[in-house]
Amino acid sequence: MKSLLIVAGAALLAASPQDRKPNIIVIVGDDLGCADLGAYGGKEIPTPNLDSLATNGVRFTNGYVSCPVCSPTRAGLMTGRYQQRFGHEFNPGPVNAAEETFGLPLKETTLPERLKGLGYATGMVGKWHLGYKPEFHPLKRGFDSYFGFLGGAHSYQKPGKDILRGTEPVDEKEYLTDAFAREAAAFIDGAREKPFFLYLTFNAVHLPMEAPEARREKFASIANPKRRTYAAMLTAMDDGVGRVLARLREHKLEEQTLVVFIADNGGPTPANTSRNDPFRGTKGQVYDGGTHVPFLAQWKGKLPAGKSYDAPVIALDLHPTAVAAAGGPPPEKLDGVNLLPYLTGEKSGPPHEALFWRFGAQAAARMGDWKLVLQQGKTELYNLSEDIGEKSDLAAAKPEKLKELQAAYAKWDSELAEPLWGGRGRKKK
Ligand code: CA
Repeated sequence: MKSLLIVAGAALLAASPQDRKPNIIVIVGDDLGCADLGAYGGKEIPTPNLDSLATNGVRFTNGYVSCPVCSPTRAGLMTGRYQQRFGHEFNPGPVNAAEETFGLPLKETTLPERLKGLGYATGMVGKWHLGYKPEFHPLKRGFDSYFGFLGGAHSYQKPGKDILRGTEPVDEKEYLTDAFAREAAAFIDGAREKPFFLYLTFNAVHLPMEAPEARREKFASIANPKRRTYAAMLTAMDDGVGRVLARLREHKLEEQTLVVFIADNGGPTPANTSRNDPFRGTKGQVYDGGTHVPFLAQWKGKLPAGKSYDAPVIALDLHPTAVAAAGGPPPEKLDGVNLLPYLTGEKSGPPHEALFWRFGAQAAARMGDWKLVLQQGKTELYNLSEDIGEKSDLAAAKPEKLKELQAAYAKWDSELAEPLWGGRGRKKK
């Protein structure tokens, strides 16, 4: 009887769209170079659907993630907290070789747990990478439904029998990126009577490099075979994003849905031919090439269209932003900031005084245009406003500025936990 009443309540909510809480869709790309998207100047590979998020919404020109590799970034995104605060500093090993302690700590509150508490249907499609044991499964961390794989990488052409629907293996036959798009669209169809949260995490364009021949043939003009496959993989993801956006249009939900797209870290250029230029470095490094990612947000009628937002933001912000959009009270102890008032112009100034990174022996801090980089026993200082490629080290020339950033970093670092797996100074996969 109780569940019938809840269903009736949801139907009433759907009947008055003006009062309805917005849907929230967070889409994550994997190992994607910023410079490969049209919205960020890419010309070689068409990404019209991702670009449309910029045309119809906000394009962040200083969007970061909290780690230059997969799992820790996702831990930060799910919790809204710097993941090093709770020891989630490194990637684990592969599914069968992961360290015993690996998994997003259960004492942390996830975004879907909060949104579920606010009356949302919560669904996840894609790569999880936040724990392999049963207690860390997405269905135990706030999601009502799940379709995807738990590890860090997966075959696309032969998804096979370790793709899960809920906790049950399914024998998936479709190209995995297309399968994820199919499942995301189906989730929207099924969940749309009530406010929903969809976390759609493509593993594209992470290794292995696999794409259907028909998609590869469209890029015959690209001489490098690996780059041709990358282009095919990226356009498959772009088509998948297009499928999700089309569903919103068909159901007339565009003005009731906040859609965000980010990548989980910078491109591992040698591995998959992704391009991070003009940034220095790649996935695995705290230079901007490892942490500065595509970052786009659309909410028609609520957020400005075609706007570029230049102040530094970080994926940790998406958690409190989503909670605010859902009408929830601001969660405590978060590092992320609700970005909505900054995007609508209600608040001015930068959302963050500083952003920080720690990844084993590497560390960085950004304050305004200044960036501190610590690695291999070296201290470097860059002014990103005139040196976006982090080429000209000003540590010796600007000792006062250096001290300011070092002090801010040291304070933040002192608040962090020891890694629960992996070790400081030891670079994990
Ligand atoms: Ca990644």
